[in-house]
Amino acid sequence: MTTAPHVTSAAPVPTQSTYQSRVAEYWNAEENPVNLELGKIDDLYHHHYGIGPADNSVLDEPDPARRNDRLTAELHRLEHAQANFLADRLGPLAPTDRVFDAGCGRGGGSVVAHLRYGCQADGVTISAKQADFANAQAAERGIDGQVRYHHRNMLDTGLPTGAFAASWNNESTMYVELELLLAEHTRLLRRGGRYVVITGCYNDSYGQASREVSLINAHYICDIHPRSEYFRAMARNRLVPVHVEDLTEAALPYWELRKQADHLVTGIEDTFLTAYKNGSFQYRMIAADRV
Ligand code: SAH
Repeated sequence: MTTAPHVTSAAPVPTQSTYQSRVAEYWNAEENPVNLELGKIDDLYHHHYGIGPADNSVLDEPDPARRNDRLTAELHRLEHAQANFLADRLGPLAPTDRVFDAGCGRGGGSVVAHLRYGCQADGVTISAKQADFANAQAAERGIDGQVRYHHRNMLDTGLPTGAFAASWNNESTMYVELELLLAEHTRLLRRGGRYVVITGCYNDSYGQASREVSLINAHYICDIHPRSEYFRAMARNRLVPVHVEDLTEAALPYWELRKQADHLVTGIEDTFLTAYKNGSFQYRMIAADRV
């Protein structure tokens, strides 16, 4: 009789392709003021955009240094509004519940969810530097027992099956194959769990991806999916949409304001505004139940 050799499962491999290594390099090197200066205000680091009406009076501030500070604070308020909007759709959650933050950046979204619900959070990023940064932030807040960040691949997290009450992607779906990503969310979520995505997607009814969408892809080394693909991949992965909201209009004030923040611009501002306004690109929130 032969016995099967003892197989030990390998540690999760964070990057699985040349493309993913490039994405990790990008985020390991990323130090844009628009990401760091905004986060410094209250140690909530978000790497997504913002929604809602802007207070454009900050532009009239006569003192240049104060104008910059007020602009930075207003953009941070708008990105925080987006994090809150997403967190609202995860609940209700109890402190014993666990949530999964896929493509967590420097960690702001998990902190927001924890502060809102008292829940446990696990964030996953392909950037080792981001995971270290986010863990240090959680330790400084004294919440590292409840909020943890992992340098892992969100397509293959190694986290336990069915252990999560809610999960989300806030502007991180464009880095991966949707089918693989949603299969991993479905594996992690318990039955009746909630998945929320906020993302830019290209508008199928416009046609193929526009020039602006291609420019955004090149800028971030990403691959923006068409709107339809989200619904197709959800249907195939036992995720049933319960709430779909077009956030395109709500996203414009952030970009109009950011465009005028000389100390924060990255050069992609006009491209976003053109893409949103010509109808080729849409900002979207989809909340779904895992059945
Ligand atoms: N959700 C965060 C960050 C968005 S930026 C926020 O709202 O602030 C995109 C993030 O996706 C980065 O943190 C990047 O490291 C992560 N990412 C990209 N591909 C990934 C992958 N395959 N696995 C895990 N994280 C990934």
